[in-house]
Amino acid sequence: NPSKPKYHPINDACWSKGQEVPYLALAKTLEAIEATSARLKMVEILSNYFRSVIALTPEDLLPSIYLCLNKLAPAYHSLELGIAETYLMKAVARCTGRTLAQLRSAAQRGGDLGRVAQDARAGQRTMFAAPPLRVRKVFAALREIAALAGHDSVNKKIGKIQTLYVACRHSEARYLIRSLEGKLRVGLAEQSVLQALALACANTPPQAFAPGAPDPGPAQLDVASTMTPDAFKALVDELALTIKTTYCECPNYDLMVPVLLQHGVRALPDHCRLTPGIPLKPMLAHPSRGVHEVFTRFEKEQFTCEFKYDGERAQIHVPGDEAPRFADAAVFSRNQENNTSKYPDILRRLPALLKDSVTSCVLDCEAVAYDTEKKQILPFQVLSTRKRKDASEDQIKVQVCVFVFDLLYLNGKALVREPLEVRRQLLRDNFQEVEGEWKFAEGGDCSDEESVQRLLDAAVRASCEGLMLKALRGPRARYDIARRSHNWLKLKKDYLEGVGDTVDAVVLGAYRGRGKRAGLFGGFLLACREDDRYQSLCKIGTGFSDDDLKTLTDTLQQHVIDGPRNYYMYDASHAPDVWLAAASVWEVRCADLSLSPAHRAAIGLVDPERGISLRFPRFVRVREDKSPEQATSAEQLARMYLAQDQVKNSAKHLDHDD
Ligand code: ATP
Repeated sequence: NPSKPKYHPINDACWSKGQEVPYLALAKTLEAIEATSARLKMVEILSNYFRSVIALTPEDLLPSIYLCLNKLAPAYHSLELGIAETYLMKAVARCTGRTLAQLRSAAQRGGDLGRVAQDARAGQRTMFAAPPLRVRKVFAALREIAALAGHDSVNKKIGKIQTLYVACRHSEARYLIRSLEGKLRVGLAEQSVLQALALACANTPPQAFAPGAPDPGPAQLDVASTMTPDAFKALVDELALTIKTTYCECPNYDLMVPVLLQHGVRALPDHCRLTPGIPLKPMLAHPSRGVHEVFTRFEKEQFTCEFKYDGERAQIHVPGDEAPRFADAAVFSRNQENNTSKYPDILRRLPALLKDSVTSCVLDCEAVAYDTEKKQILPFQVLSTRKRKDASEDQIKVQVCVFVFDLLYLNGKALVREPLEVRRQLLRDNFQEVEGEWKFAEGGDCSDEESVQRLLDAAVRASCEGLMLKALRGPRARYDIARRSHNWLKLKKDYLEGVGDTVDAVVLGAYRGRGKRAGLFGGFLLACREDDRYQSLCKIGTGFSDDDLKTLTDTLQQHVIDGPRNYYMYDASHAPDVWLAAASVWEVRCADLSLSPAHRAAIGLVDPERGISLRFPRFVRVREDKSPEQATSAEQLARMYLAQDQVKNSAKHLDHDD
């Protein structure tokens, strides 16, 4: 009987068919997820919640997914929360009679304003209980709050927050306040949410509950009970792959969820395709350490070498039907953020790039700071001084040249499954270079080590980071959306003899500085990610200038928390003076990777008991463009460790892409 949800684990937050989902059901689900550190358990808990929503109130699946991900819209809509703590405290203070000083000191002690808000709300009696919060209304209110701008918007925001807050029960206040802060802190990665959605759809197929579908029988509520465990696992894997692949090509839940609810997961690829205007997740490269290794990796395959430009990735979309609509063109970042207003100059120059044969396209490019007089590439640091938003063209000081290296969509057709050789030819046939503005990535197809070495030297002379080596023909030469693929290898000039690449690590804690560094943070505990967990990787204290340390000490203050999260894996001997929420990602260089009895990075992947650690780590820079979810993974570290000459023959091989 679908009106009696049995599988939702939280009895006091049940609801009946057709009713709006209580926010309490989601809050309790998040509470259960926060209390576990096992990824599979998290996925199972969340999938049970999704199943209830699918069977009882499918309209609430979309807001539920967004709320679990702490997002309000696709990344490129730039609709984000992240309300300053002071405003949240003001709202809580006004509703509870606590003073700002009381709230501030409680938040500093505990490091979590969400819990402070929950405790403050629990200790409060109200004469008239506000009607219970509903998922859909909370989501709509959060979107409204995020969109408020202009005169008096701060007060309006605080007012709306108060209205929500006074209606909170139990842990609702904790998650509401954390959502408003923009930090849900339950350890749920997006991939886990997608996995939970796949598990839910396998067990309770949404199309069986769509309006107009025949009455679903009990089997549709619990498909797992009608299959062998192996067959059910295969079904979940298939649906997870479809959901994840669709999400890569069309990262927009507003489009995916209605299709999934009406027609089921298998209909997604037909309805949600690569479309100009919707940025896709880019293909990424694996590191390599030398020209020789490249030939081993590509064996007899044909590959091409392109200069690896050191700028900012720019995915350029031009929609159109009969003709390109330049007014709707957009530039997206590596993380699908809308960078259009950062690059008015790129947009103005677009028409010159497209030949008359082009009606719509998606181009993969690198925008690089450029000295137009000397006709020279400038370092990445120069580009990073450019205004990030709403740049007006006459005030732009840093000029860019855009190096186009791939064509993913042309005239209504996705090209991601075509081999690079075909995509490159179409690029050259349909687009044209413009001096100092648009250039095709330089390079050449190589068949011997000497020519790769010559190109590498040329790339270095041209101020590039090194080379990108890409499979040219056959199935390996497809564009692997959202994957760090072995079909693209990067060969960086700095690391040829070292470990092949820098590591992007997450900062989990800080040690107080002494002597010259007194009053500042002087050292930090870094970690890699492993699914939803963070495993300690090394302590770092070098590579920082005095100014770096001042800025980092300041910016990290906002991430201070009361103690380690249950998804931080570390040895007690490394416990830092101050714990930090996993938020900042730093690029770090090291001499090599070694096994460590105390660090936990990639534990179990190359050694059953020891983790991997970085030797002589040095800070390179903050990776503003990477979130903790995009930090170097345990598996990537394991590969880098195994690729080192001295360990090459001694450990098991990892050879599939991540
Ligand atoms: P990093 O930039 O530190 O190397 P990453 O994780 O950002 O790491 P990688 O996969 O390592 O990305 O390297 C690919 C990046 O190099 C792309 O995201 C792109 O911005 C840049 N790039 C520069 N030139 C090229 C090129 N010819 N082909 C592909 N990517 C290029």
